[in-house]
Amino acid sequence: MPGPRELTLRPEHAGSIPAVTVLAGPTAVGKGTVSQYIREHYPQVSLSVSATTREPRPGEVDGIHYSFLSHPQFDHLIEQGKMLEWAEVHGLNKYGTRRDTVEAAIRDGQHVLLEIDLQGARQVRQSMPEATFVFLAPPSWDELVRRLVGRGTESTHEQHRRLETARLELAAEPEFDAVIVNDTVGQAASRLVEVMQLPAQQ
Ligand code: 5GP
Repeated sequence: MPGPRELTLRPEHAGSIPAVTVLAGPTAVGKGTVSQYIREHYPQVSLSVSATTREPRPGEVDGIHYSFLSHPQFDHLIEQGKMLEWAEVHGLNKYGTRRDTVEAAIRDGQHVLLEIDLQGARQVRQSMPEATFVFLAPPSWDELVRRLVGRGTESTHEQHRRLETARLELAAEPEFDAVIVNDTVGQAASRLVEVMQLPAQQ
């Protein structure tokens, strides 16, 4: 059941099965954790593999978690018009979704999930307005701060910068078709699959 802050799908989406679902939300809300959970538990969801210029973290596999590219390789894809969307995230690295892989998956009848940042979600809204846009929200502001500080991967200066960004990003919630509160990862993932109108578990 949706929680009190969660929206049901807009009427024009109810009953039609979306081919593309975009999951966005503020920094540190847990988009990566939810998509990792989806990857492990919901094989019926085709999770788009983003391209990025950032270095792989321990355990990340090229072609599964990201397609890791050099800056020139990434810029070449942009110049060739191959990106459905792309953004420089936190002013550090570029991340983007290749148009051809998403279109091939749709042609294959798959349900594609894009886990991207807000700037990217807005670009997809322009070129694929028929997609479903889902906002992953933190249970509260304090919890978002706790998650960002708790994961300990950023310096204090960087944490402050990201929290400033998160404040702006939270204000974007009304732009989305559905809101899912990320209280526990399993519940958030199951709500997301529900919004995608896929079978709960295979
Ligand atoms: P991370 O480096 O922690 O994996 O991801 C950092 C941010 O980049 C997250 O907010 C994530 O949603 C975003 N991101 C990942 N892939 C893409 C993408 O293909 N396009 C855009 N616009 N953002 C992405």
